[in-house]
Amino acid sequence: MEFEERTIKIIIEEEKCEGCETHACVEACKTFDRGILELIDGKPGVSLSPEDLKRKGTECLACEYECWFRGNGAIRIEVPIPGLEEYRRKHGTSF
Ligand code: SF4
Repeated sequence: MEFEERTIKIIIEEEKCEGCETHACVEACKTFDRGILELIDGKPGVSLSPEDLKRKGTECLACEYECWFRGNGAIRIEVPIPGLEEYRRKHGTSF
């Protein structure tokens, strides 16, 4: 599943959540964001509308961090940075 906040996209590979006992992502969201990530039928999910997700999300990235360390590495967050590719090309730091 995936959803968007104001400028970022959160992608969760739900199949990796099988067997996760910490649900650290949801706990992190309650602690560092506004609890927009919920446990729904045993898996992380959202119930807010796309508009409310963009309005309420703080883009804290805590769910991805906590999932790396205490979950199963199921979350990836895309953070577009306008001008980054052009900068890398100009300074020879493209990968
Ligand atoms: S911490 Fe990671 S693996 Fe565990 S439920 Fe959350 S997203 Fe899934």
